[in-house]
Amino acid sequence: MKINCPHCDLKLEAGEELYGEVVECPSCHQTVAIPFSEEDRQLQIKTRCT
Ligand SMILES: [Zn+2]
Repeated sequence: MKINCPHCDLKLEAGEELYGEVVECPSCHQTVAIPFSEEDRQLQIKTRCT
């Protein structure tokens, strides 16, 4: 799935093997949590913004 880095908004392509993992953004080198699904993604972004 494609996700946006929450720190710098870079588009990242995450393969299935990365679902649920935490990766380092190649642009800003912050950690990005890859969600398990698209629905989970919306949930996580909301949760992280509060
Ligand atoms: Zn980034």
